Amino acid sequence: MSRAAAARRDVRGILTPDSSKGSYGGSISSVTDSSPAEFRIVGGHPALDLVNTVTPRVRGGAVEHDYLTSPAELVAWARRAGLIDLRDYSAVEGTWRSSPELAAKALRATLEIREAAYDVFAPRAAGAVVAADGVKHSEGAAFERLMLRWSAAAARSMLIPDPGTDTGRERGIAELVVGTSPAQLIPDRLVVAAVELVRGVELRQLRACPVDDGGCGWLFLDRSRNGSRRWCAMEDCGTRAKIRKLGERRRATGVHRLER
Ligand SMILES: [Zn+2]
Repeated sequence: MSRAAAARRDVRGILTPDSSKGSYGGSISSVTDSSPAEFRIVGGHPALDLVNTVTPRVRGGAVEHDYLTSPAELVAWARRAGLIDLRDYSAVEGTWRSSPELAAKALRATLEIREAAYDVFAPRAAGAVVAADGVKHSEGAAFERLMLRWSAAAARSMLIPDPGTDTGRERGIAELVVGTSPAQLIPDRLVVAAVELVRGVELRQLRACPVDDGGCGWLFLDRSRNGSRRWCAMEDCGTRAKIRKLGERRRATGVHRLER
């Protein structure tokens, strides 16, 4: 693969909103066997998928499960979320195996980016429950953390002139390759993705699975035409909420048959 082609792949990997869905179809199982089977990638953007690696996602609430507690979980998740391809996976995994300190450092960086992204996006997501106190304060700190991580990632990135521009391409004259250092490749791509989303998110699309109605608080982009998506996944939180509501109604009315 040429460098420009590799660069295009890398840029697509970060910036294509739906890159998380299906692009690695049948090949992911080999690297995600340790992942919980029920874990879903539903954010519609890598930065939101990162935020959603904790469930439920409620500020100050109890966490039932954190999906990123080890470097092994992180690299498997990154592959599954479409952030890295198989070649990246091998490079990262090999580097981390030979240097556990670098792996631990990358995991720490990733978790810092995750929490900063949550602090920035959650207060603006429709349906999110975010305590008003302290939001402004933590948001300033979150932006600063993102900026510092982003500038470090930029220092490890490359701008490569694209020979394709000589042959009739209509946009762009160079490719940005993020993640030239395998040890930090995953947090680098995640923080660049987070900054891209900060800059370009359509706020009317930014939503949280409604905690008040029994949802999990995960963030996602609602790209439905009429803006009607309410749940992270209808088959998870949506269905649970329906069943619970039905139970409440039956208790309230004393009726013990299905009403609808
Ligand atoms: Zn949910």
